[in-house]
Amino acid sequence: MKLLVKKYFNFAGQFSSKISSGFSNREHGNMSVFYGDTKKTLLNRNNFLDSLGIKPKNLVSVEQVHGSNIKCITKEDKVNGVFIHLDSIPKTDGLLTDIKRLALAIFTADCPSIFLYDPLSSAVGLIHAGWRSTKEGIGVKAIKLMQMKFKTKPEELFVGFGPCIRSCCYEVSRDFGNYFPDELIERNGKFYLDLVRVNSNQLFSLGVRKENIFDAESCTSCERNDFFSYRVEGKDCGRQMSVVMLK
Ligand SMILES: [Zn+2]
Repeated sequence: MKLLVKKYFNFAGQFSSKISSGFSNREHGNMSVFYGDTKKTLLNRNNFLDSLGIKPKNLVSVEQVHGSNIKCITKEDKVNGVFIHLDSIPKTDGLLTDIKRLALAIFTADCPSIFLYDPLSSAVGLIHAGWRSTKEGIGVKAIKLMQMKFKTKPEELFVGFGPCIRSCCYEVSRDFGNYFPDELIERNGKFYLDLVRVNSNQLFSLGVRKENIFDAESCTSCERNDFFSYRVEGKDCGRQMSVVMLK
């Protein structure tokens, strides 16, 4: 079963007639146009998106900067050409939309990606949630923006965490206890963190329900044969793509 999860990231699977979502792995190849071996990136993207029924021209990506700026893509952005070019939206780590056939994308190689789906108002979101963004509460900010824009009820929201580095491997400095006092784990004098747990706790505080959270439960560092890992390979490694789209 675990292999199936890896190959077909089954976020909010019961809504597969309403949304498409996916998380690429090493087999799909590098998805980044900036990092790693980029020779086949566009081909890799096309193949991966095609398997999900997503047209590459409908992809919207952001210049991820480990901040907590969130962009809500509106119909006006469509006029500005966001549907037809591959340029990234500057300095943004979260995307929301209620527009159909617009595919939101985030690229990662250890950081958690957080998928959001509100079935009642038919809106989706995708967040790049590294430790800095998590410290700034990017998940909470995204849901508050969904409440404002789409009248989202957190208790009805479905959340997915893509494969990322977990507390088995994510060693951090003791200072992280200042930011995440309830989640820092000490093992043999070293300190570790699970950002999925931190983000989940933040979302619970807004009323998100535990049973509505899907966790891929994969560690990109442990499972290096399946995933690119920044910690294992350094910053020049390839990147996985997280993608979500309203059908
Ligand atoms: Zn691990």
